[in-house]
Amino acid sequence: MIVAMDGPAGTGKGTICKLVAERLDFTYIDTGAMYRCITLKMLDNDIKLEDTDKIIDMFQNTIISFKNEKNDEGKLVQRVFLDGVDVSEEIRTPRINETCSPYSALPLIREKLVDLQRKLAVGNNVIMEGRDITTVVFPNAELKIYLDATPEERANRRYKELISKGIETTYEETLESLNKRDYNDMHKEVGALKIAEDAVVVDTTNLGIEEVYEVIKNLIIDKMR
Ligand code: C5P
Repeated sequence: MIVAMDGPAGTGKGTICKLVAERLDFTYIDTGAMYRCITLKMLDNDIKLEDTDKIIDMFQNTIISFKNEKNDEGKLVQRVFLDGVDVSEEIRTPRINETCSPYSALPLIREKLVDLQRKLAVGNNVIMEGRDITTVVFPNAELKIYLDATPEERANRRYKELISKGIETTYEETLESLNKRDYNDMHKEVGALKIAEDAVVVDTTNLGIEEVYEVIKNLIIDKMR
């Protein structure tokens, strides 16, 4: 079974997918992490968006992998590896937050990653989240969910997350960066964030994590029946 989930930044997609993976035995695939890894590799190797040959070459020599671990509280933590190096923290810094949207707009990058995402899902019960999973990657997924929340609430969540990681920022900066990224993500030529016609929209603005999980769990169980 494939559960496809899309939505803007800060709606809690990752948190909910990890709970589903942990409790319902699904494989969680974080496609945003894949776009973040490619952005990091391009920045570190000074590969520009117009360097088509270098990008093609890079994909032939790039391995992105995930490893699931349990933390001290028994919660699932997903580590992200780029060419064997753990980049889980580095891909979530403001430098990557700000550049990953324009980099992921490049059709060549999307084509390569969408292909990889489809291959990763073969033969598994998968919950995959991103921006174009319900519309491009798996338009025929058994269940499609669009997670949403107000920009203010999403910025608030993201701000708290950054502060807890010791990253210096303000709420206003976080809101501005989030709004900019959403705008870019919704206006991409290929793979733009939009609500699929047959997606179930879940507004998480006034819901806690466990409440959102209950909604998603019931949707999955209904589909499984
Ligand atoms: O989900 P996350 O915020 O980690 O994604 C980082 C960025 O990667 C998004 O802002 C978006 O620009 C890009 N992305 C994408 N398509 C996806 C997943 C993420 O373009 N399926």
